[in-house]
Amino acid sequence: MPLTPEQQAEIDDARANPRPTLRAVAEGMERHLYVAHPVLDHGLIRVIDYMGDDSAIVQAARVSYGRGTKAVSNDEGLIRYLMRHWHSTPFEMCEVKFHVKLPVFVARQWIRHRTANVNEYSARYSILDREFYIPAPEHLAAQSTVNNQGRGEVLAGAEAQRVLDILREDSMRSYDHYEGMLSQDGQQGLARELARMNLPANIYTQWYWKTDLHNLFHFLRLRADAHAQYEIRAYAETMCRIVADWVPLAYAAFEDYRLGGVQLSGKGVEVLKRRLVGETVTQENSGMNKGEWREFEGVWG
Ligand SMILES: Cc1cc2nc3c(=O)[nH]c(=O)nc-3n(C[C@H](O)[C@H](O)[C@H](O)COP(=O)(O)OP(=O)(O)OC[C@H]3O[C@@H](n4cnc5c(N)ncnc54)[C@H](O)[C@@H]3O)c2cc1C
Repeated sequence: MPLTPEQQAEIDDARANPRPTLRAVAEGMERHLYVAHPVLDHGLIRVIDYMGDDSAIVQAARVSYGRGTKAVSNDEGLIRYLMRHWHSTPFEMCEVKFHVKLPVFVARQWIRHRTANVNEYSARYSILDREFYIPAPEHLAAQSTVNNQGRGEVLAGAEAQRVLDILREDSMRSYDHYEGMLSQDGQQGLARELARMNLPANIYTQWYWKTDLHNLFHFLRLRADAHAQYEIRAYAETMCRIVADWVPLAYAAFEDYRLGGVQLSGKGVEVLKRRLVGETVTQENSGMNKGEWREFEGVWG
């Protein structure tokens, strides 16, 4: 259960009391405000606040372009132009603040994105909940044989069961020890800031995470990508759906140019040109090494 009944009541209450505002609002994002979207087994993501919409991007861009940009005269065209040409600062005019509940090992990957503001639940001050991420059977996979940073076939049968048992038992045992060390029953009780150190990386933490749309797109480009670990990708994909409702024009441009587009090296462009005139190009005469060639061929499926 990602939310307690009290937390849900708080959200229902906040949503039941809208206040009029003179600020620009994005109808699609209003629907998401405070709503907790479940992610993984105990995680969640919800929008706490936001600023701006597609028009805010256009408005900011028109400050730099003013009149006379006939080629990019409509909002959608202008946003696509900005995205295509990496004119990124207008996207920074939109901001969003999320509340995220996530396993610590996902938080470690996430925190590498430095261009955001973060405030995390303090395990020095508070006691962490007994909540651990245990992968669903379809996500319990073996080490990949082709990608050192990835997984391969799904584990099956007795091996899958044994792994799940180990994960559950170790999680529960370490939490029992955590509680045992904290307890002030007949002992002083270890400080919370020390007792937490034996908790495994699949325990859940929570934070508020605020960023602007440009940096959010950068995060999503990396973490909604097939190369990102499934667990962080699950959060990124939920955020993609939220952003698509918030700034539909900007998200469509991002989806087209960044998520759907590819970046080619000079050698890659050369190979394409040679193929277009009917030449047979292989890795050996492409100038690319084996890894580059595999990735280049992978782009075309
Ligand atoms: C698939 C994948 C695998 C990864 N594997 C590893 C790994 O094995 N080990 C590991 O340590 N990390 C790994 N990472 C993390 C990765 O190296 C980046 O740290 C992370 O993706 C954050 O990216 P970023 O620095 O671009 O983002 P942000 O920190 O949000 O920065 C955004 C942009 O701001 C600029 N910027 C921010 N801070 C600075 C700065 N101090 N100096 C100069 N420019 C700055 C850069 O242009 C940067 O791209 C991996 C990431 C992915 C997606």
